[in-house]
Amino acid sequence: MNQTMEYKGVYRVKLTLSLISSALLLFLIAECILTSFDYIEIALITVLSLMFLLFLWLNEDTIQVVNALIIWSCTILIFYLSWLNNGIFDSAIYAYPCVILLAMFMGTKMLFVPLIISIFLQLLALTSAHELNLIHADSANFTNHNLRTIHLSIICLFFCLITYFFIKRFQESLEELKLEKSICLSLLAENEQLLKYDHLSKLPNEHICTEQMSVYLGSNADGHHNVYFMVLDIVNLREINNSFGHKIGDQLIIEITERLNLILQNNEYFYRFRGNEFVLTKISVGSKEFEVFKERVLQAIIAEFTVGEYSIAVHCAIGIAISPFDGNSIESLRANAHLALQYGKAEQKNSVQYYQPSIKALVDDKYFYVTALKNAILKKQFTINYQPKVNLQTNKVIGVEALIRWHHPDKGWLPPDQFIPIAEESGLIIDITKLLIKQACQDCMIWQNLGYNNIRVAINLSAVDFKRGNLPKIIFNTLNHTGMSPHLLELEITESTIFDDVEHIQAQIRKIQKKGVSFAIDDFGTGYSNLGYLNKFNVSVLKIDRSFISKISDLEHEQHIVNAIIMMSKSLGIQNVAEGIEDAETAQWLRDAGCQIGQGYLWAEPLPLDDFIEYLKNENQHE
Ligand code: C2E
Ligand code: CA
Ligand code: CA
Repeated sequence: MNQTMEYKGVYRVKLTLSLISSALLLFLIAECILTSFDYIEIALITVLSLMFLLFLWLNEDTIQVVNALIIWSCTILIFYLSWLNNGIFDSAIYAYPCVILLAMFMGTKMLFVPLIISIFLQLLALTSAHELNLIHADSANFTNHNLRTIHLSIICLFFCLITYFFIKRFQESLEELKLEKSICLSLLAENEQLLKYDHLSKLPNEHICTEQMSVYLGSNADGHHNVYFMVLDIVNLREINNSFGHKIGDQLIIEITERLNLILQNNEYFYRFRGNEFVLTKISVGSKEFEVFKERVLQAIIAEFTVGEYSIAVHCAIGIAISPFDGNSIESLRANAHLALQYGKAEQKNSVQYYQPSIKALVDDKYFYVTALKNAILKKQFTINYQPKVNLQTNKVIGVEALIRWHHPDKGWLPPDQFIPIAEESGLIIDITKLLIKQACQDCMIWQNLGYNNIRVAINLSAVDFKRGNLPKIIFNTLNHTGMSPHLLELEITESTIFDDVEHIQAQIRKIQKKGVSFAIDDFGTGYSNLGYLNKFNVSVLKIDRSFISKISDLEHEQHIVNAIIMMSKSLGIQNVAEGIEDAETAQWLRDAGCQIGQGYLWAEPLPLDDFIEYLKNENQHE
């Protein structure tokens, strides 16, 4: 910066020297043509030569001296020319303001003040020379030299002041501009920081990653080295934020950043993309080196973090894509690493998953289902099958479970296991449940109108159904609309549903229960089997999971578990249901063990509405 300024200073003085020399040369030519060769020409040639020498001598170090010499030599030349000709009346005098202006632009106060004094002294000297008859003006008009000196002094003084204020204002504006420029530059730098770095972790973001990776990917056309692209997701960050607060969540991100930064070695880079997406890359020739790196990252992230007074365990999922095998652009590597991450995340905790083309096929399949499900909701391609629940003592149907079926135009009938998880993941289950509740309540009114008044209908809910918080409203509206009694509606939830977001879900369950709707815990025994929660959620029914029932006749261990569940439910005053009963022997065993209600192929598979009504009509003939 300073160097450029100095360079500009030298250039300016050279330009000034050239201009002055040109002016002097013009004067010299005019003098030579119009007058005889005398002292004036000698003076002009001398100063011209001096200017030339100064031009040669000028550099960054001599600039101040050269400036002063230019100004002083011009002043002396003006004085000398005036002395030789008409003294105070000579036209050379008019060059003084030019020198003042020049001094203002080039010099400092140190140069300027002595110059002004010297010009006034020179004017006085010329006046005195007129008094002493040392100078003879060659026109009769040039007589009153005192008046002339006063005029010239006033003009010079006025000119000095005007130039001084003008230059001062000019310099102030220049300073303001400089200040504004520096503010602009620092804002630009700040902006660049914001654009390229994550504000919380201070890690470079995807812009920098894209820039850096494109260099490596571009130079890797021949596949000499591998570029490993690793996406790291903190799976339980939302949970951590909810439990400890966002401040702790932010602090945790900083801690994670610091820890991972410490383990980075040569050719290993760490970025934070938008949101909760950390990216680590490694440029390496062999896969062994990467394996070591990957293990280092995993160990660093799963070791507990201490944030404030809390010890926090981070659950992560890592997806890896490798160039050149899985893509040659940052976009394809990122997309494939994400596919791997999503796939691994669904499989296990702290998963590390490499991208494979088969993963893409699975995900494509998922996309197919999501699109097809949206269509199915619009076109109402779902139907409900009803599976009876039977009182084991009386063999009477006391209830029914509504089980969804999807008739896909090309694929035919699809079982719920194939599409419910995708519907849950995509949130589409909310719309499906809404349709299902409406349909089941309408169907329930149909068999009620046929005289089957006390058959409860049970509907399966997912945790996602509680997310929006409007489940009570949907249920109440449907009950109002269909005129169905809330006591005939039962909602089946699993233990994992309750644990998803306890407070939020509990509030909705309470609201629905207040209206008289009952809740059942489905698949009991496969999850946490937390008895405290059964009481807390005030559930009315407990459904023993099919996996225990199917093995009951062979395995003593399963028998003990089922016995314990039945006894426990009785002591808590909760009705128990055994699902998946396929044979009379199992039904008898359960009856003897005190189980109250049974459900399974022994009585009926899930049936379409008409078949179910037919089943009810023939009920007394079963078993
Ligand atoms: P679930 O709630 O445990 O439903 C019982 C499943 O066991 C049903 O399978 C039923 O057909 C089957 N089943 C009943 N008796 C027997 C038997 O004796 N032997 C055998 N092997 N199986 C029997 P389905 O209809 O395929 O449903 C599977 C799962 O899909 C359900 O398990 C439930 O979790 C889910 N599901 C079904 N419909 C819905 C729904 O409308 N909403 C939601 N969120 N989930 C649903
Ligand atoms: Ca169920
Ligand atoms: Ca079940």
